[in-house]
Amino acid sequence: EPAQPYEIVNQIVGDFQMLYPNFEFELQLQPLKSICLLLPADHWKQIVMIILDNAVKYSTDKKIIELEASQMENNRVQLRIRDYGIGIPSEEIGHVFDRFYRVDKARTRLAGGSGLGLAIAKRLIETYEGQIEMASTENEGSVVTLTMPYIRRKL
Ligand code: ATP
Repeated sequence: EPAQPYEIVNQIVGDFQMLYPNFEFELQLQPLKSICLLLPADHWKQIVMIILDNAVKYSTDKKIIELEASQMENNRVQLRIRDYGIGIPSEEIGHVFDRFYRVDKARTRLAGGSGLGLAIAKRLIETYEGQIEMASTENEGSVVTLTMPYIRRKL
């Protein structure tokens, strides 16, 4: 069934808040209300959880994660997920969606991971005509932008 992104993102953030009580999650999700995304709910969940998991894993002392949605022209909606963590050097950002790629092994070693998360998220979202992009500044943080087609929810 199509994903109801407002409810799903709220539910995932609720779970993360319980798991990581020292983090602050700031939500601007109004544009997700009363829309549906054209992908199965499970796949949307998986994508958002991969991105949030990274945001937590690669945060440092400023434990704030912002989720902000906005509607665009041509029936697409964006969800941006921002952290203030270690960031990614500009020469490595082109590889983060490659399978098994992990930036600077010495630094990411402490936070375990296989380097598959973003490759899976990209593969999934592109299957449904969506896009994923990552922008980052080393030692300042990262922002992942998810873009998906949507339809209005029937009343
Ligand atoms: P997992 O497969 O468990 O998610 P992972 O986090 O290593 O492990 P990806 O999610 O594919 O793998 O991410 C690839 C690499 O991109 C990471 O190893 C990390 O170096 C970098 N990265 C991803 N998200 C962030 C982020 N929010 N901040 C900084 N670096 C990130």
